Amino acid sequence: MTNQTLNNQSDDKGKYRHLFVVIETINSDLIPASLEMLGEARRLMDKFNIQYNSDEKVIAIVLGDKIRNLSQELIFYGADAVIYADNPYLKYAINKIHTKIISKIVTDSNFIGELFPYDGADYVKPRYMFFLADNIGRHLSATVLADLDSGLASDINKLVISDLDIRHQYKTKGETIRYEKVLEMYRPDFSGFLWTTILCLDNRNPDIKKEYHPQACSIIPGTFEPITKDTKRIGKIAEYNPVFDEQDLKIKVIKHEFVKNPVQFENYKVIVSFGRGIKDNPESNIKLVEKLAKLLDAEIGISLPVSKKIFHLNEKLETLYITPNRVIGTSGRKVTPIIYIAIGISGATQHLEGMKESDFVIAINPDENSPIKDVSDIIITERMEDVVPVLIEELEKRLVPDNPGKKESQLQVNAYGKL
Ligand SMILES: Cc1cc2nc3c(=O)[nH]c(=O)nc-3n(C[C@H](O)[C@H](O)[C@H](O)COP(=O)(O)OP(=O)(O)OC[C@H]3O[C@@H](n4cnc5c(N)ncnc54)[C@H](O)[C@@H]3O)c2cc1C
Repeated sequence: MTNQTLNNQSDDKGKYRHLFVVIETINSDLIPASLEMLGEARRLMDKFNIQYNSDEKVIAIVLGDKIRNLSQELIFYGADAVIYADNPYLKYAINKIHTKIISKIVTDSNFIGELFPYDGADYVKPRYMFFLADNIGRHLSATVLADLDSGLASDINKLVISDLDIRHQYKTKGETIRYEKVLEMYRPDFSGFLWTTILCLDNRNPDIKKEYHPQACSIIPGTFEPITKDTKRIGKIAEYNPVFDEQDLKIKVIKHEFVKNPVQFENYKVIVSFGRGIKDNPESNIKLVEKLAKLLDAEIGISLPVSKKIFHLNEKLETLYITPNRVIGTSGRKVTPIIYIAIGISGATQHLEGMKESDFVIAINPDENSPIKDVSDIIITERMEDVVPVLIEELEKRLVPDNPGKKESQLQVNAYGKL
């Protein structure tokens, strides 16, 4: 088998087309991160259209109740077409129902073919698909891609479309083959310190031939910028009338409530976070962090592993601080304080994503090579047990004499915050 013969088998002849973006809504309104995803889809397809001279499109899919008027907005933010299903049964994102409808829409060759007629073989499936990597999108992306019998890359924060020469024992039977229009999906690996590129490639090996489309991913909110709204943009809007499975409608949402997060990082100018570096004496070290935070009028954050209850702590400390509500990073919260103090935190990519936009970062970490240094304005390369008590002592000395109970440091931070 020559390269050329193997290559020809990959010619999709229009079977796989377009980039579909699954939009999320809440209370009949767009979730802002959906527009970020749409913006990146637009940028990628603009390049795609030039590079491959193709007329493939960005198609947004939006399901919900009273959402039809969002379609125009999605066109203004980059979609070439919007397919919406507006129905009271779609008010809440019930996974089973949404999975079936999305899978049906993207495989409905008549519907998609009418939207963008193509002079070639029949449309079968999307070329690419984007979902949000939030609680709803992570679940939905997995079930839709299982339905479509393809792969999924989750928690992506960089995307490139290119042609790649691939040689693989099974995929290409050891031959080097050019794969065209490959979606390169980047994410931090599980350690958080290396990047992984995920590819979803067809098997071109004749012995185990299998096609993998769509190439799909879930995208971390906050990663990409939406495009600037352009009210002159025009696009197609199509309604999809879903047929519901009676059985599925038995799933009912009885109550839907927004629970306010008890940890309000937004109200603080300083955040002191701690990570696994407190390990040598967790209870006493958390008390040091607590004291420092109090003096600085700061809120306390944690790294993700700490939230997995890896330390033996008294119940009070555990309940107060060892909670997912305090996690900073891609699996937790994004914070932008004036001062961020990272104590015993190494600086994995997932953590940095949550705090790197802080104005001023101070790290306390004896390892001078830990990646947290890359985003720090100051790194104190000593053990926290040695540094934090000194900081506490210095701050305590600075009690303003004519204003008992108020710390000078606190006043300074407040003044800085108003600049
Ligand atoms: C899908 C996924 C999502 C993730 N999401 C998040 C997320 O949202 N947020 C997050 O934080 N992580 C997240 N992670 C985990 C992330 O990859 C790292 O494993 C984690 O951030 C490391 O936590 P850490 O810095 O506390 O621990 P470590 O990496 O173990 O670092 C501990 C640091 O403490 C230092 N240290 C040791 N002794 C002391 C001492 N005495 N004083 C001071 N410093 C000391 C060490 O030098 C080291 O740098 C995620 C991982 C995955 C796979």
